[in-house]
Amino acid sequence: MFQPPRCPNRRCRHHRRPEPRFYRRHGSYRPRCRSHPVPRFICRTCGRGFSRQTFRADYHDHRPDLNARLFRSIASGVGLRQTSRNLGLSLSCTQLKFRKIARHLRRQELNLRGQLPRGSSLQFDELETFEGRRNTRPLSVPMLIEKKTRYVLWAESAPIRPRGRMSRARKEAIRQEERKYGPRKDLSMRSVKRTLQRGVDVAKNLDKVELFTDEKSTYPTLAKQLFGKKRLLHRRTSSKQARTTWNPLFPINHTEAMARDLLGRLRRDSWLVSERRRYLDLGLALWMAWRNYVRRRFNYDDESPAQMLGFVDRRMTEGELLSWRQDWGERSVHPLAWGNESVARWMSRRNAA
Ligand SMILES: [Zn+2]
Repeated sequence: MFQPPRCPNRRCRHHRRPEPRFYRRHGSYRPRCRSHPVPRFICRTCGRGFSRQTFRADYHDHRPDLNARLFRSIASGVGLRQTSRNLGLSLSCTQLKFRKIARHLRRQELNLRGQLPRGSSLQFDELETFEGRRNTRPLSVPMLIEKKTRYVLWAESAPIRPRGRMSRARKEAIRQEERKYGPRKDLSMRSVKRTLQRGVDVAKNLDKVELFTDEKSTYPTLAKQLFGKKRLLHRRTSSKQARTTWNPLFPINHTEAMARDLLGRLRRDSWLVSERRRYLDLGLALWMAWRNYVRRRFNYDDESPAQMLGFVDRRMTEGELLSWRQDWGERSVHPLAWGNESVARWMSRRNAA
């Protein structure tokens, strides 16, 4: 029997500190998409009505039964259009679902993350791609992974200014875009910082932080600033070295190749210019969750990257990752909880064991 863990009303005192029996039962309803009746409750303090569904990630969804399949489909590189055809959903419904699911997964990713265990090391790189038009709208995608487990700590896209060989046609195309949208900004530094900061956030227990990057000149100062000069072991490899499995940066190069493929498929000219990059970022968030929690590290492994780092104790299914809503931070219900245990409680029980 479901027990509501807290009042869903953030302004109610039973949201942060729920007292026992803060609610009373209030009948039930029968949704069309489920065979069992869903119990309803009322908060005794604020009077807010809610049900078990209020705590679920598919709260208010149309066709929630398709969410897990949609998640798997996009994470494995099928574009939105093909996914909508396969699932028999309209394109706009598929897009809405994609956005909601990706945002949920991004929050969950940050909620479930613990501190990196000893012996972890980080690899960072930026891959270059584009949004919409290759010759005028390049993007940089900074990405940070844990080296041994291939856990993706973060990836996001940032606009950069067009560079490299300039033909007359390319110059003209750039001028035209600038007239229309203004000069293209370079926001890559901000994204690089934010991405490395994700590493700082989970490296608090490490005495030394080993960070592998290429030899880009801006990295050493920034990395020292963020991780602390004394803790940082910065290993730099020239990007001219052959990108074979012997290359020290092979793990990040390999992970980038997977992301690049996904970004290619998510990049569509039909999206509004302002929306395109946001879509790519949501695609990356969705792929990260799948890569970290659902997939095995390598095909011959049994464990997922997140499991290897000790963040969860088994591989998870797409459905489990889409179970409980995660917008209340560590007060959210943990997707592997027994009953209605919060993320915070789940983690402390696990750390104590
Ligand atoms: Zn309340």
